[in-house]
Amino acid sequence: MIVGVHPLAGFDKVLHYRVPPALAGAVEVGSLVRMPILGGVRLGLVGELGPPADFPVERLKALTDVVYPFPALTPELLQLARWMARYYACGVDAIIETMIPAAVRRGAAVKQERLLAVARPLPEADVERLAARAPQQARLYRFLAEQMRPQPKGLVLRRLRVGPSSVAALLRDGVLREESVRVERIAYADGHAGGELVAAQPHALNPEQQSAVDQLSKDLGAGAFSVSLLLGVTGSGKTEVYLRAIDEALRAGGGVVFLVPEVALTPQTVARLRSRLEAIAGGERCVVWHSHLSEGERLDGWLALATGEARVVVGARSAVFAPVRNLRLVVVDEEHEPAYKQDETPRYHGRDVAVMRAKLAGALCLLGSATPSLESFTNVEAGKYRLLQLTQRVDARQLPYIDVVDLRIEAAKQRGQPALSGKLVRALHARLERREQTILFINRRGYSSSLLCRQCGHVEGCPHCSIAMTFHRTDDTLRCHLCGHQRAAPAACPQCRAPDIRWRGLGTQRVEEAVRRVAPRARVERMDTDTMVRKNRFREVLAEFRAGRIDILIGTQMIGKGLDFPNVTLVGLVDADISMHVPDFRANERTFQLLVQVAGRAGRGDRAGEVIVQTFTPQSEAIQFSRRADFAGFAAAELKLRRDFRYPPYRHLIQHLFRGPNADKLRFYAEQWARLVERELGDRVELRGPSAAPIEKIKDEYRWQLWYFTSAVSRVVPELERLRSAFAWADDITQVLDVDPVSLG
Ligand code: ADP
Ligand code: ZN
Repeated sequence: MIVGVHPLAGFDKVLHYRVPPALAGAVEVGSLVRMPILGGVRLGLVGELGPPADFPVERLKALTDVVYPFPALTPELLQLARWMARYYACGVDAIIETMIPAAVRRGAAVKQERLLAVARPLPEADVERLAARAPQQARLYRFLAEQMRPQPKGLVLRRLRVGPSSVAALLRDGVLREESVRVERIAYADGHAGGELVAAQPHALNPEQQSAVDQLSKDLGAGAFSVSLLLGVTGSGKTEVYLRAIDEALRAGGGVVFLVPEVALTPQTVARLRSRLEAIAGGERCVVWHSHLSEGERLDGWLALATGEARVVVGARSAVFAPVRNLRLVVVDEEHEPAYKQDETPRYHGRDVAVMRAKLAGALCLLGSATPSLESFTNVEAGKYRLLQLTQRVDARQLPYIDVVDLRIEAAKQRGQPALSGKLVRALHARLERREQTILFINRRGYSSSLLCRQCGHVEGCPHCSIAMTFHRTDDTLRCHLCGHQRAAPAACPQCRAPDIRWRGLGTQRVEEAVRRVAPRARVERMDTDTMVRKNRFREVLAEFRAGRIDILIGTQMIGKGLDFPNVTLVGLVDADISMHVPDFRANERTFQLLVQVAGRAGRGDRAGEVIVQTFTPQSEAIQFSRRADFAGFAAAELKLRRDFRYPPYRHLIQHLFRGPNADKLRFYAEQWARLVERELGDRVELRGPSAAPIEKIKDEYRWQLWYFTSAVSRVVPELERLRSAFAWADDITQVLDVDPVSLG
């Protein structure tokens, strides 16, 4: 037999090998193999069976061995790899390396455990004779005879104080048998759920949940590809719907992939899933998949899935590649989260890949969010996805009302840029008196460097692109990061003539200082990437907060995700403008998402919650629609804008980044390239730029960027690749294509 192999050796080719007789039967499509190449033995993945038409078969080398006796990639994963390579402009080998964890590729040592069991039961008379002659042997036999299942050898011998020679004798006589099993190092086996006890019992569904579940059951029963978007307000019980669907898929004998934006931030979801899955008939094992696993844990989890021992995986982005067999359901929780996008090669979007994988597997894909991405929402409008809605919070609890504080008025009152408005301070004090808790959010998604007028809230935008202009301190200019439009920064507000237009956002530290000033006795904890350096510190702080040992928690939106604290009755968003006026056409969408998610953190217990949002631009739509979590209203307004500018989701956006040590050469190169693309692909793509990247220079390398708008990524990307290999004349210039970037940073 001849096979075509993708070598994992850093070049994107298919090479052909002979399968030696000893390996015949063990090699199939998706097998991870070793083979001779480049003077060494390397790993490769079998991509196809059968000889190429024109190859002299006698000259082929033979495969060296097969790493695992089952395919490392299912056929649909291999297809997915090929689709990703085309769509995201990178090599199939790079995708395969992403799909198969390093520990698996290395074939890291599997931890084995020896077990002892009775092989041949002895009549009681024999046992008594044994006890007289060899008491240790009899003790061991009696113990094991009483056990339901094989027992760990080391432990039993130590506990019963039995020596190895006694075991050896019983094994030799065939009275006992020894077996070895792989030991699973189960992540989160300590039940670390941020200190929370998790209800294992299913809730009785409310009518909206029931109708969503009914629909999903029908889809699962049909056994064909479909996508459903579960749009449910915060606290509407989306997780319960996911769990029912998972239950159904497992009962039907299928496998499940469950994606969350960031496992470290969602220990509750993971714990809840685990306990529920273990309660489901048969005690299903749930593999947890995230970037902080040890090599051993990773390998064990992967093996359990690849062999079909486990059928459910829950994890972040890369869990979408887990080798789950017979995939029936892919759930993507908080599908709008930018964290699903990988910011290094391959630059894939976990949600989009999830949809594609479901399609290739003929499975159901369930996307869920209180604030879906506009991409997914327009797919509903176009009839591609089904919409399932949960409009009520469970137990008919009220959504908290968002109180908007106008910082323009506050700034005039307090003279200067206030960190905490009078209203927020009063609300804080009230919480401290009632021994209730507060969360203060500061959004630090990049620092804002747009010009915002503190008198009238005016923000300077690009006349061509409908995004905020960026202030460049070095040469006192305003620039657009999409089209490169540039002009001198005004000294006064173009709208109201006020001089305080140079504005900067607040940091977490300044907010902490302000809080300590107004509430010196409160127990305050700050949580951001600076203070969370130690592993597990994050979970510790959350556990303390839950236990009520912290009054006020200050942090970036990393604390906003999926956390459920019943005693939090006040949530403050200190500086809504930072996310709103970043130079990105998704700024409004991100702000709306942030506000709704943040508001969802308040009033989850039986007490009503209060949300206070501070902003210089209270009139903006992101803020107004978020007050009642009006997703439909927001989507309609925002989509109109996107349609007018033909921005995503109406077209795809591709970023092309050029990096190089010589600024002039880089610029020339980018401009020449842009001209070529305009000439060759001008009918299929619209170009913006080239222009200097927002951060023009990093580590002595200059950066320029070019943007393509297109409706046909899979036709444009291969063309760009073809042009690129013909045009590449400067080897000190690095280029990166980013298809469907989630931020314009
Ligand atoms: P969401 O993910 O939509 O924000 P969750 O799934 O976290 O909401 O559910 C919020 C809370 O409501 C959870 O504590 C959950 O256990 C509970 N819950 C879910 N469904 C029901 C139900 N039908 N009846 C009562 N409580 C429920
Ligand atoms: Zn512009």
